[in-house]
Amino acid sequence: MTVRVAINGYGTIGKRVADAVTKQPDLELVGVTKTRPSFEGLRAQEKGYPLYIAGAGKAADFAAAGLAVAGTSNDLFRKVDVVVDASPDKVGRENRKLYEAVGVRAIFQGGEKADIAEVSFNALGNYPAGHGRQYVRVVSCNTTGLARAAAVLRSAWGVDHWEATLVRRGADPAESKKGPINGILPTFDLPSHHGPDVRTIFPDLSIATTALIVPTTLMHVHVNHVRLTQAPRDAAEVLDTFRRSPRFHVFAPWEHVDGTPQVMEYARDRGIGFNDMMENVLWEEGLRLDGRDLYFFQAIHQESIVVPENIDAIRSMFDLARDGAESIAKTDRALGLTRA
Ligand code: NAD
Repeated sequence: MTVRVAINGYGTIGKRVADAVTKQPDLELVGVTKTRPSFEGLRAQEKGYPLYIAGAGKAADFAAAGLAVAGTSNDLFRKVDVVVDASPDKVGRENRKLYEAVGVRAIFQGGEKADIAEVSFNALGNYPAGHGRQYVRVVSCNTTGLARAAAVLRSAWGVDHWEATLVRRGADPAESKKGPINGILPTFDLPSHHGPDVRTIFPDLSIATTALIVPTTLMHVHVNHVRLTQAPRDAAEVLDTFRRSPRFHVFAPWEHVDGTPQVMEYARDRGIGFNDMMENVLWEEGLRLDGRDLYFFQAIHQESIVVPENIDAIRSMFDLARDGAESIAKTDRALGLTRA
């Protein structure tokens, strides 16, 4: 069975998910939407992705730019089994009305509140939750990073309580109108919304989060303190467990990766897709164990971490894999996410 996929909202997340869909043997990219002409629309055309007009977009504007369009987003929605909605925060809720009208299934992103969908999704955390659903939400970049780590730690040793501080990037690299460009902005939402969002995946997880926004565009960094239920043998065992888990990349000290600049330099060197780093990034030196108390840093590439999760969400909805492990392995093989 091949599932036909549309991408509605061809921006940071949408264009990455579109490329990822084309790499999967069991998925077919039928088209992508743009609200107005842009270089991204041109790139879609150059890649051979049929372009459809979304929202209040005007056919005359696309014609003037020399971009061929195959119809409106509604035309596209009628041709597919599922729409991946990667429109800006809160726009997905408006779009859901369009999906309901056509009767097409949809995946929403983490910028939408959890109640937009029947379930929130993370491949390592709750893969079966998407089965047979009409609407699924892939949780945000930060929540995905926390949920992946929670899945690993819970299954190995159990988690009694988790405290995390999220050092969040101020903007994505292409966002020239966002900031701050100087200063550190505490999020006066204490504890922050990320903890409850992780509980949309693990309802019984005891987790409290706080957040700060800083002037960087590369990645987020999480500072974690986890009280485990059982003590691991030593830190090496914890590192090994993360290393053996899909979607984790652990840097050794000899690699000289001091922080997010070198992580993204590694990603550029590796050259997957948009030079993305879709794994949770940990450092050997950035993990300490004291009995049941685990301390570790993890870096999250906000622009790409949810890309494989969107692919697995489709597989879960349409029952295309035996279980999460099979889907994750298939996705990661196709995307070139192999553990070093
Ligand atoms: P973006 O602004 O880069 O892209 C959104 C795209 O949707 C743009 O091309 C925009 O023109 C288009 N669009 C606007 N109105 C539309 C409409 N009515 N219908 C269809 N398309 C429309 O945004 P993004 O960063 O890709 O974020 C998309 C979603 O993914 C949001 O929910 C966001 O919270 C979530 N997300 C973003 C990141 C990130 O760091 N960028 C990480 C994880 C999740």
